[in-house]
Amino acid sequence: MAIRLIVKHPDPVLREVAKPVPKITPNIQKLLTDMAETMYDAPGVGLAAPQIGISKRVIVIDVGDEHGLIEMVNPEILESSGEQFGPEGCLSIPGLQGDVRRKEKLKVKGLDRNGQEVVMDVSGFLARAFQHEIDHLNGILFIDIADRVYEPSRDEEDEDVV
Ligand code: ZN
Repeated sequence: MAIRLIVKHPDPVLREVAKPVPKITPNIQKLLTDMAETMYDAPGVGLAAPQIGISKRVIVIDVGDEHGLIEMVNPEILESSGEQFGPEGCLSIPGLQGDVRRKEKLKVKGLDRNGQEVVMDVSGFLARAFQHEIDHLNGILFIDIADRVYEPSRDEEDEDVV
């Protein structure tokens, strides 16, 4: 296990479209472990592999709800509905926050660390975190899509960065 260095905007790796993982290998399992450790250390509630300089479709999320740690390889949004609007931050863009419109509910599909297909229905903040992380895999940052980007004052500061 190791804590990896978090890449910051404008590093070009954050703008690449990450590659699908063809097969779950011990290296991918180690990557998932390191990503979770790095996310908890930051601390953040989500991390995508490009944020540690690895252009692969791998994400980890833990928003502190009943789902606990979610590790997902090759995540895909199958269905989405509704809308939510709220503040978002990013470990790769320290000191900035943005108000971002997102879907309220998602059905997502991916592989777990054993290569088993997982389908999840998520909503609210967890759905926001999934959309933020999957955007990272497509080279999209919240500053690209936010209605407003600002330096949060202390009481606006969102501790849930992804
Ligand atoms: Zn982010």
